[in-house]
Amino acid sequence: MHRTIKLITCTADSEKLVCAAAKLCYASDPSTIFQNNGDEVTKFLARLRNMGHLSPFEHASYTFLLEGVSRALTHQLVRHRVASYSQRSQRYVSHDTFDYIIPASFEGKTVHTDEGETDAVTYYRTFMEHTAEVYKNLRDALGGSGESANEDARYVLPNATETKIMVTMNARELFHFFSERLCSRAQWEIRETADRMLMLVREVTPVIFKGIGPKCVQLGYCPEGKMSCGKIKEMKQRYM
Ligand SMILES: Cc1cc2nc3c(=O)[nH]c(=O)nc-3n(C[C@H](O)[C@H](O)[C@H](O)COP(=O)(O)OP(=O)(O)OC[C@H]3O[C@@H](n4cnc5c(N)ncnc54)[C@H](O)[C@@H]3O)c2cc1C
Repeated sequence: MHRTIKLITCTADSEKLVCAAAKLCYASDPSTIFQNNGDEVTKFLARLRNMGHLSPFEHASYTFLLEGVSRALTHQLVRHRVASYSQRSQRYVSHDTFDYIIPASFEGKTVHTDEGETDAVTYYRTFMEHTAEVYKNLRDALGGSGESANEDARYVLPNATETKIMVTMNARELFHFFSERLCSRAQWEIRETADRMLMLVREVTPVIFKGIGPKCVQLGYCPEGKMSCGKIKEMKQRYM
């Protein structure tokens, strides 16, 4: 299946909730913020972000469902520790006919082998078909079905194997996640996923995610030194 990224749910009234949490720190009545107009909320949230008072943003949380993504992507995603995850199991679910992600970079490329030349996509597909066969044969050898067969046969499954994952992150962690994973130095699959996730959270809470983008956009400069892509202007155009 194609990659699909959905925002399943998020905290209700989260922009006002973040304001209320912060107001409470400064001895104001947090409930009054719910009567205030959007202008005040916008200004207040901007002030909090500028001050670096970010803990109130932890009250706003977002749950995404990612489908048609690779294990390579989810392995990077789950490195972000301030989050909750539920992923389709390779132990409970058989992968006899597993789907896999094909990197676009393979298209039009040629692989040279002892047997001759072949196009990279065909070569890759052939490997995946062979892997599926090996998986099935090993699974049969291990009893043919159930957890005990799946759990060891899965050792042959590649990083490309398609998976589904549900992830919940709060807004503060998302600021960090976007700063790292929207950077042009991040890997393409997680970068494209992060881009879609940002568009989705912006639709529901534009004020919280105003000015959020890769680290160069959030900091106003690129901290990558010699590794910088030099595209801060383009990044600002895309995300500001
Ligand atoms: C371009 C790129 C290349 C990468 N390459 C590699 C690689 O080659 N090898 C590799 O192993 N990883 C790599 N990573 C992953 C990276 O090292 C982090 O594991 C990942 O980005 C998660 O971010 P994080 O650790 O900052 O924070 P998260 O887990 O998202 O946590 C957010 C913040 O909370 C704080 N925090 C969380 N846990 C702790 C803790 N235990 N102690 C103290 N503070 C904590 C930190 O301030 C942290 O920044 C790469 C990431 C990127 C973006």
